[in-house]
Amino acid sequence: MTQASRVEEREYLRTPTESTDGARQLAGRRHVLDLDDFTREEIGAVMENTRAMKEVLQRDIKKVPALRGKTIITLFYEPSTRTRVSFEQAGKILSADVISVTGGGSSVEKGESLYNTARTIQAMDADLIVIRHPQSGAPHFLAGRLDISIINAGDGTHAHPTQALVDIFTMESHLGPIEGLKVVIVGDLLYSRVARSNLWGLTKMGAQVVLCGPPTLIPSDFQNGHRKEVGHPFTNVRIETNVERALDGADVVMALRLQLERQRAGHLPSLREYSRMYGINSKRLQLAKPNVLVMHPGPMNEGVEIDSEVAHGARSVIEEQVTNGVAVRMALLYSLTAPTLHATPDTVESQQLSKPGPKPRPDITSRRVYLK
Ligand code: ASP
Repeated sequence: MTQASRVEEREYLRTPTESTDGARQLAGRRHVLDLDDFTREEIGAVMENTRAMKEVLQRDIKKVPALRGKTIITLFYEPSTRTRVSFEQAGKILSADVISVTGGGSSVEKGESLYNTARTIQAMDADLIVIRHPQSGAPHFLAGRLDISIINAGDGTHAHPTQALVDIFTMESHLGPIEGLKVVIVGDLLYSRVARSNLWGLTKMGAQVVLCGPPTLIPSDFQNGHRKEVGHPFTNVRIETNVERALDGADVVMALRLQLERQRAGHLPSLREYSRMYGINSKRLQLAKPNVLVMHPGPMNEGVEIDSEVAHGARSVIEEQVTNGVAVRMALLYSLTAPTLHATPDTVESQQLSKPGPKPRPDITSRRVYLK
């Protein structure tokens, strides 16, 4: 063995460094369906594990054997570039076998039900399904019926928890603790699953969240008075229909894509008017703090919800969100499928031999539905 290949081998065996109390919080989790059932500590643990995964991504050889022998299936019933590729890349860097199934070209085209498709995958002894589906609740449906781990990669208008974790990680890495940050989310609040998951995550982390958009794109339970309902989790979230007022002193501005494929007609007079009233441009950005972060989950409608010069400008961290997407998804895949969180070169070798026993299914019937 040459000196160089010995170095490579060592790099390959070197594992992410994480062994914190926070990391232990994820040990009992079987699924990632949304951030509503994540504790603050658990989100902190994901952040910590993500930092360890970023360290792996900075190595010359981006490969660790942590999930060798594990099979991850990405099951995407809706288009995706960032999320699907980053999950696949994440799985491959961790040495899992990653198989992608999309609606086109699979038995889904022959009319096979979601349940039967997922059962088929489970019967092949896969360890985890990453699912994107146009129906809100599809990942919860599977999580309640199968024994395999499920990660929600976006379900209808409901949730996109891994994107929210990416966003929180990106904010934290630039601005430090989320507590007290003013985060303004602008745009299609009614149809955006990214906004919904960010609301759970950001409020749990103590951010001061402002939702801004035209009244027709604000969810009904955020309209006047509805949040006074006992137990509503977002009583402290501010709603603003004037974007200039919303942006005043913002630490973070997150523009949302207009979900034109989901919107039923009649929400907006025209895209031009939307852009004029709510588009994030450099003039509006001056109202925010000088070190404001500009974010967008992508894909962007440049010139509609965000101007090109802002999207690609000095305050934009939009590409960094994509890069961080790989590390966050590595952290999640690792936490859900590796039997031990405290990996060392020795345990990583031996962990391939043991398989965790079945964990209890979540009580999904007790979930409250907010943000209608
Ligand atoms: N990529 C994100 C999602 O799948 C955001 C978007 O499509 O607007 O929800």
